[in-house]
Amino acid sequence: MSDVVSPLISMPLTAADRCDRCGAAARVRAGLPGGGELLFCRHHYNAHEARLADLGASVYSPDDELV
Ligand SMILES: [Zn+2]
Repeated sequence: MSDVVSPLISMPLTAADRCDRCGAAARVRAGLPGGGELLFCRHHYNAHEARLADLGASVYSPDDELV
């Protein structure tokens, strides 16, 4: 048996990246298994976190790494 690990999304977020829901500065990048990508501000990431986990999304959050 071998675990399938989703590749980490390592592209940095920039000031040009905006939350798909509200247009605020993006803080989290979520890559979907099907190839899509979503950007969220902190607020909307928190709101959709459980859903993203259900989808098996790969979440990249620079803020978490810097703290
Ligand atoms: Zn938002």
